[in-house]
Amino acid sequence: CGIIGHVGNENSLETLLTGLENLEYRGYDSAGVAVQNGSGIDVEKRSGEVDELKASIEGVSLDGTVGIGHTRWSTHGPPTDENAHPHTDETEDVAVVHNGIIENYAELRAWLREKGHEFTSETDTEVIPHLIQYFIDSGRDNETAFRRAIDELEGSYAITAMFSGEHVLYAARKGSPLVVGVEDDEFFLASDVPAFLEYTDSVVFLEDGDVVVVDHDGVEFTDLAGEPIIREPETVDWDP
Ligand code: GLU
Repeated sequence: CGIIGHVGNENSLETLLTGLENLEYRGYDSAGVAVQNGSGIDVEKRSGEVDELKASIEGVSLDGTVGIGHTRWSTHGPPTDENAHPHTDETEDVAVVHNGIIENYAELRAWLREKGHEFTSETDTEVIPHLIQYFIDSGRDNETAFRRAIDELEGSYAITAMFSGEHVLYAARKGSPLVVGVEDDEFFLASDVPAFLEYTDSVVFLEDGDVVVVDHDGVEFTDLAGEPIIREPETVDWDP
């Protein structure tokens, strides 16, 4: 339902939680965040409101300058803590948030199970981190594995992923909105402009088929095959 991603120089957690609060108007049943902590990925997620998530992570150290967050509107699996996003693979090397519906998730899940993957949620979304991990295990680098996994998905999606030990966000969209916010050397990804409007009004609206790679140095806009495409930021005059 709602996606926020952040790559910055200061702690991402506050930006992610603010983003989730700004997205509350969309309606949701669960919320979660994942932050890159230097040696791995910390995930905190639960059913209920963003306030409840905030209360449950109080005192937990979630330090990192790269992170993703999600408010979920369940389509596959009830609103439980396990079904909340972000979702990871078993090794927690990749974390994913997703809006939309993966139509072929049942086939993908059965196929991944045969390959030894174990699932911990009932969502369609969880096939995405497992698929990415499958392609990494078969020798691909993170970016190639992300693109290869996206290529297998049918249905609608806005997806943002991050990998353990890497200060980079990867995102793709088809049939679900996704925007990039740019502010000097700080970058945002979101399903909707209001998520990050207090930080920047410089926005790139992504189109179906776009894949972006965001790190501290900037945003790379490409198609699924990795060919560069031109997407220009526009200044939005948003009236909430
Ligand atoms: N289909 C996914 C789920 O049920 C994502 C739903 C959403 O867009 O929030 O978890």
